[in-house]
Amino acid sequence: MGISRNATVAPKFWPKSEFFRLLLLCWIALFCVAHSASSLAGSLSKADIERRFGPPLHVQDKLTEIPAWPLVHEIEGNGAPVGYVFESIDLAPIPGFEGTPMNFLVSIDKKGNFMDVELLHQHEPVFLGGLGEAPLREFVTQYAGRNIKQQFLIALNAARNRTGPSSGQSFQTTLDGVAKATASVRIVNQSVLGAALEVARAKLGFSARKERGPVAHALPDVYDPVAFADMLKNGMVGRLRLTNAEVEKLFAGTDGAGVDDEALAKPEEVFVDLYIAYLNTPTIGRAILGDAQYKAVIDRNFDNEHLWWIATAGRYPFVDDAFVPGAQSRRLTLAQDGYFLEARDQGFEPSVSVADADLNTSLIFGVFSEAGLDPARPLDLALTITRAKGMILPTLTHKQATLSYAPPKNLFVYPPAPTPEWLLAWQARWLELAVIGAALALLSVILARPRWISVNPRRLQVFRLGFLAFTLLYLGWYAQGQLSMVQITGAIKSLKAGQGLSSYLYDPISLLLIAFTLVSFFVWGRGTFCGWLCPFGALQEFIGKLAQLLRLPQLKIPLALAKKLEWGRYLVLAVLVGAAFLLPRAGETLNEVEPFKTAITVGFDRTWPFVAYAVGLLVAGSFYYKFFCRFICPLGGAMSLGGRLRRWDWLPRRAECGKPCQRCKVVCEYDAIEPSGEIRYDACFQCLDCVGIYHDDRRCVPIMIYDKRGKTLTPRASGKSGGAPAEQAA
Ligand code: SF4
Ligand code: SF4
Repeated sequence: MGISRNATVAPKFWPKSEFFRLLLLCWIALFCVAHSASSLAGSLSKADIERRFGPPLHVQDKLTEIPAWPLVHEIEGNGAPVGYVFESIDLAPIPGFEGTPMNFLVSIDKKGNFMDVELLHQHEPVFLGGLGEAPLREFVTQYAGRNIKQQFLIALNAARNRTGPSSGQSFQTTLDGVAKATASVRIVNQSVLGAALEVARAKLGFSARKERGPVAHALPDVYDPVAFADMLKNGMVGRLRLTNAEVEKLFAGTDGAGVDDEALAKPEEVFVDLYIAYLNTPTIGRAILGDAQYKAVIDRNFDNEHLWWIATAGRYPFVDDAFVPGAQSRRLTLAQDGYFLEARDQGFEPSVSVADADLNTSLIFGVFSEAGLDPARPLDLALTITRAKGMILPTLTHKQATLSYAPPKNLFVYPPAPTPEWLLAWQARWLELAVIGAALALLSVILARPRWISVNPRRLQVFRLGFLAFTLLYLGWYAQGQLSMVQITGAIKSLKAGQGLSSYLYDPISLLLIAFTLVSFFVWGRGTFCGWLCPFGALQEFIGKLAQLLRLPQLKIPLALAKKLEWGRYLVLAVLVGAAFLLPRAGETLNEVEPFKTAITVGFDRTWPFVAYAVGLLVAGSFYYKFFCRFICPLGGAMSLGGRLRRWDWLPRRAECGKPCQRCKVVCEYDAIEPSGEIRYDACFQCLDCVGIYHDDRRCVPIMIYDKRGKTLTPRASGKSGGAPAEQAA
């Protein structure tokens, strides 16, 4: 084969003074409206949140679809939120006794554990002049560490208020209330839980909202008269009927077995006959309550709560003797998807007649609409039955009988499903993705057909320095697209914890770069990322070039010694990977061996030791070209290992390369060419200098000599299967 060459005016009929009076009144009205609106909305800024949550946590921008700030961890989660911070007033603005909602800053982690609850502002009379705020601030500290999946009860002296050993109550947690402020702390509890549940359901997928979409709304205009018996059949009314024998069976094998004499004497008689019906749908509500009672109930439902009629017949009412109107029933729990809802008596005792049933209790219970439940989906109404054995400090045994209730779906309507969070992240960054995608496409074309750009040294220099400027300025400092070891060690920790890698979807820029780099391993090897797409690598290139322009002395290390020192990056890589497996906390600190966060992510806006370290590495690079890349960078080590997947020796070589010609070896600033002329792909940054020389009949020594002698040159045989792409081999 041969060589190829190759932005005032008062109305006139108004007296001027009257106009200004009117204007003043308008301003006052506007101020009042604005003030009232703002008092119902959170007022904290991202900076306020950042002052409370420092490293290793970082606060992301407030979400648009729900008023909450995601918290990301420097190491964990691979950039996906590890928790959320939000103001309760934004999500559950429940009026207090003064009429204004209290506001709490609530944070929960991704498992639904409360991280912290902080009082921001409150106007409760009892906490203003009376008790002062201290008891309230102390009360909210109790949330930390508890989980929103639990049923929260409030009791005075909760820790001492126990009668004896109990069983089956692990689903409940009790907060110590505040004496003289019982009602206010219940509003606190509803505010905190309502807001947390809203965020958990929207962002944490706790109730699989992602799968079922938003919650249903009752259709207000659908009404078809229906008989009670038919409602029992079609599911509009839920019913749970237990005989004495069935209840005795529940307690079999426990301390509660055989202690109910009546149950033992009349086993077939009804112990409890429990009914539930969702009232917000007119068809069910009017059928159960009748039009007059239904209208009275709906007219008083100022907060648009979810309302259920709950009733019992038999010998076990669903409220006990200690039941206080307006409170929860200790015998009932309402839950959906495993999450307890605070169902409270609404102060109605409706008159409802049920054939064949003598109701002992008939009440209406409600759940705040902010609680986030879906009324069209199955709801678990659990009746706790308690038996006591013994007279002094009796042993209590609790058992639950659960009624699953879901009214017909044709009484509801579902709003459209929201866009998944990860897709929102991609949509928000479409322009950056498009720009970077175009740059990657251009780079691919250049690397696939390098001859035209490389054969002209000036053209290659302009393109390469231009692309590296893009990598540093746009990809690194603007788009925050610096890949780092954190992605590798984070992946290790996620997989080790069995959490998968779906969190990468939340960082589209990094995901795009990772995908491109992985593909490039197979085609071109390690140098595609390190030579073109690493912002810190680009910064080093510019510092190195500047040093050469300033004629700073450039150190040279013998190739044999340099090759030994290059093992340093594999050693650092091994330490970081090992720490990710064995010492995750220490690993977070060790990852600081990379100066990427200091130099690129925060643009040197960090404490002085970190800045000094990054600047020191850049200074070292000004005396020894790509010092950090060659001897320390663990990510570079990982890239070199990935580059071993390369299928082609795509950089063209001739039989004469190395023997005798050393031109490319001398020109290569990365020591990536052996004296023998072989390319060390693990060390190659794909600068394309040697490719240009290869194709240039005024720089490639063998061409120049052989042309004069009329000889023909041949490409060197490829060391990898498949041989070199056609252009390079030409
Ligand atoms: S060796 Fe490290 S710093 Fe250098 S270009 Fe590669 S990843 Fe970037
Ligand atoms: S000159 Fe060196 S670093 Fe550049 S492409 Fe050739 S071998 Fe790679």
